Amino acid sequence: MKQFAVIGLGRFGISVARTLSRMGHEVIAIDSDEQKVENIMDEVTTAIQADARDEQTLKSIGIQNADVVIVAIGENVEANILVTLMVKEMGVKTVVAKAINSLHGKVLAKIGADKIVFPERDMGARVAYTLTSGNVIDHIELSPDYSILELVAPKRVVGKTLGEINLRAKHGVNVMAIKRNGEIIAAPGADDVVREGDILVLIGSNRDLKGLQDS
Ligand code: ATP
Repeated sequence: MKQFAVIGLGRFGISVARTLSRMGHEVIAIDSDEQKVENIMDEVTTAIQADARDEQTLKSIGIQNADVVIVAIGENVEANILVTLMVKEMGVKTVVAKAINSLHGKVLAKIGADKIVFPERDMGARVAYTLTSGNVIDHIELSPDYSILELVAPKRVVGKTLGEINLRAKHGVNVMAIKRNGEIIAAPGADDVVREGDILVLIGSNRDLKGLQDS
């Protein structure tokens, strides 16, 4: 079990804290707003009202012992940067910081944030993608060039094996998993038959994935 600390309980921070907690992890949630702290108190291991800009407070909470710290302060960019810098200097191995724009992201990278997330930008791109591309259910960008795509199996592949469809040879795309009736068939083999209603979880370059959808 890993120990996480989430600093800033806006919509993004609260969702991260809640999800980690439901997954069975230890979660310390911190916000300067008492109401935000009270709202999540029953759902996390510890909820603390504190101004995260105060280094002594962070130390007394034991932030330095967390495996991962998520800095989810948004609008107050100065606080976001300061807190990211402090927790990194305290020796926290993995610091994830939320950025509100690309310049902010660049600053966070310079001061040592290990992972930078752009929730609004990424979610916007994801929604736009799924709204405009036929049977695509979800799209996760892994890098500017590679993605994971969830696609309802097109009629023409239903009843065929993955070996027969052979997406790897024909399109350079790999089938990571098949979702069927709420279950996951992980790393399916060449003999697995695609059934109607299956969702194919594909990984590949954006170009190859696009080529597959256009074919
Ligand atoms: P979201 O989009 O996730 O709702 P946001 O971008 O609107 O968030 P804010 O509301 O500015 O971001 O900040 C998120 C949370 O961080 C707020 O609940 C706020 O009280 C908290 N916060 C801001 N500054 C500090 C600080 N110095 N210490 C602790 N918490 C803070």
